[in-house]
Amino acid sequence: MSGVGQLAPAAIGAERVTLPAALAARPDVCSACSGALDPLGHCAKCGAVFGEAYRCPLCQAISDVEAGKTPYTRCRSCGGPRIPPSESPISEAEVALLRGARSEQLRAIAFRAGSGFALASGGLSLLVTLLVFLVTSPAPVAKVAAMLASLVPFALSLFALRRARSHARKCDAMLQQAWFLAASRLASAHGGQLSAQRIAQLLRVDEARAELLLAEVNVQDFIAQPSELPARVRVTELSDPEDLAAAAEATRATSSVNRP
Ligand SMILES: [Zn+2]
Ligand SMILES: [Zn+2]
Repeated sequence: MSGVGQLAPAAIGAERVTLPAALAARPDVCSACSGALDPLGHCAKCGAVFGEAYRCPLCQAISDVEAGKTPYTRCRSCGGPRIPPSESPISEAEVALLRGARSEQLRAIAFRAGSGFALASGGLSLLVTLLVFLVTSPAPVAKVAAMLASLVPFALSLFALRRARSHARKCDAMLQQAWFLAASRLASAHGGQLSAQRIAQLLRVDEARAELLLAEVNVQDFIAQPSELPARVRVTELSDPEDLAAAAEATRATSSVNRP
């Protein structure tokens, strides 16, 4: 009697309502190739991405990240730097650093373009000046003045190049800091049990860089917990003085054996 007129929840798709809100935004299968999606919404079959985890904090488009000219990944949509998505969402501080790095990157690009333009126009003006010298014979003072004038674009080009380099350095420092924050976020999300290889995988950097990031995270953790220092000192104090003496004796013996 109670079941009359009622359909099973599965028949009307009611079980979909129980999905977590964060995952509700992405489809169950890839809408391009019907392949299975991983928990973040990445299709392993065709590489398409779905879901909020892949939303770029800079251009707001849902797109994948890719390797760029820097050692760090960038947005496939806008080309801005982007930390690869993972289960733990990216922090506000990381987004701020990515924004800062992007604007420094754009400034560096603009100054580099300006430097190239100034160099080209300097070359052209020098060429014209030399041609004029060939067909006319101006006074020596005019010659020197013309040469100096044609050197101005070269000075401007050098100035712009230096500015471009300084902005590129600032961009690099911000990216380094952003990836460090991401590494420490991932390390704390995994309870500190994260290998350099795993960090390299998650943050899509090479292993040498991942090792550096992990070392930096460990140093930061150590500084953040000053209570650990006295504990370690106490451990040394508590060890048996006789053991320490024996260990020192053994070291002396081996070192004298090795000596010719
Ligand atoms: Zn697909
Ligand atoms: Zn983007």
